[in-house]
Amino acid sequence: MTYYRFQNYIKHVRIGKIICLARTYKEHAREMNTTVTEDPLLFLKPASSVIFNHETIFIPHLSKCLHHEVELGVIIGKNGKYITEEKALQHVLGYLVALDITARDIQSIAKKNGWPWGIAKGFDTFTPLSDAVLKDRVLNPQNLDLELKINGTIKQKVNTNQMIYSLERIISFISKIMTLEHGDLILTGTPKGVGEIKEGDVIEARLGSLCALTVDVKHEL
Ligand code: MG
Repeated sequence: MTYYRFQNYIKHVRIGKIICLARTYKEHAREMNTTVTEDPLLFLKPASSVIFNHETIFIPHLSKCLHHEVELGVIIGKNGKYITEEKALQHVLGYLVALDITARDIQSIAKKNGWPWGIAKGFDTFTPLSDAVLKDRVLNPQNLDLELKINGTIKQKVNTNQMIYSLERIISFISKIMTLEHGDLILTGTPKGVGEIKEGDVIEARLGSLCALTVDVKHEL
């Protein structure tokens, strides 16, 4: 079992299912040669893929090309099904900055063949998470700077006000499909600028001045 790390919250919150959005920023959809859809596109990552600040992403034997994707993460604090957009934010416990590490070579083959993305997204260490903040510290989650640096160079930078879907819409939509439960995590998708990470890289991600994450990269032994 894996638990979130909060900056100022002593309760243990177990990490539940991790629901990810595929295309949330127009410019990223464009760089991937895809289009945005009316409803969000979803996939799942296992909680076993989570690591935390100052840990290591391992490049698995089965992949030769990992990509970074920096994302705003939303932690669910209250169970709900068919949550209305009006009540959606009442179900949020807090926020964090996350990486949705992707085996892009495996994903490209999957896309070509119409296969699911579970393998490309599900390896151990593929979901680094920062310490989380409670929502009362966040004035407006859709007006936050999201940034990723590799070895000190900025690779991805966006304000969350550029998301195609509102958080209310995302929460409401997901809850039409699966019950959102205390401890679930929504990764809201990445902006443009995704690219390869290599052994020895140091990746730094941040969400405004609220959350920060530093991880490095090594080959799996
Ligand atoms: Mg992603």
